[in-house]
Amino acid sequence: MKRGVFLDRDGTLIEEVGYLDRIDRVRFFPYSVDAVRLLNRAGFAVIVATNQAGIARGFFDEAFVEATHRSLSDTLAAGGARVDAFYFCPHHPDAGVGPYRQACDCRKPRPGLLRRAAAELYIALRQSYVVGDRARDIAAGTTVGAPGVLVRTGYGARVEQSEHGAAAVTDNLMGAVAWILRQS
Ligand SMILES: [Mg+2]
Ligand SMILES: [Zn+2]
Repeated sequence: MKRGVFLDRDGTLIEEVGYLDRIDRVRFFPYSVDAVRLLNRAGFAVIVATNQAGIARGFFDEAFVEATHRSLSDTLAAGGARVDAFYFCPHHPDAGVGPYRQACDCRKPRPGLLRRAAAELYIALRQSYVVGDRARDIAAGTTVGAPGVLVRTGYGARVEQSEHGAAAVTDNLMGAVAWILRQS
């Protein structure tokens, strides 16, 4: 069993731009590639887990999200970093039509994406961490015993002002990785 770090995507790994509907709107934070590479070298599985309700809302489709994740992987690989797997929730409980409109088990704060990743990649959730900019990112980890780090990028600076349940709050993903690497 491996230890994992579950990263939120928008506002955590890359900048929050609202519904990201064009690959040319992707903006990595300047430290993101280095932060992921540090986790790789420390032996953590690195998983991106992201709510993408824009699919349910019809703003873009699953193929677009998958293409975006291939593009993120290319940028990471160019810097010697690797995300082991990307998981996304395409659903929304009360927006959109068809099968995407459902109260699924994978939209954070529910832990379905984390549980699926753990089963497929042999990750010990209770020895893992989550990093995100929303309380629901932290809550998904708490439910499966993985402490969360709230970052102040994206929505995080606002979220920090209310109840969030995080074990630590850091300025950004690099700070979160430094905090994780200090735990033992
Ligand atoms: Mg986010
Ligand atoms: Zn879902």
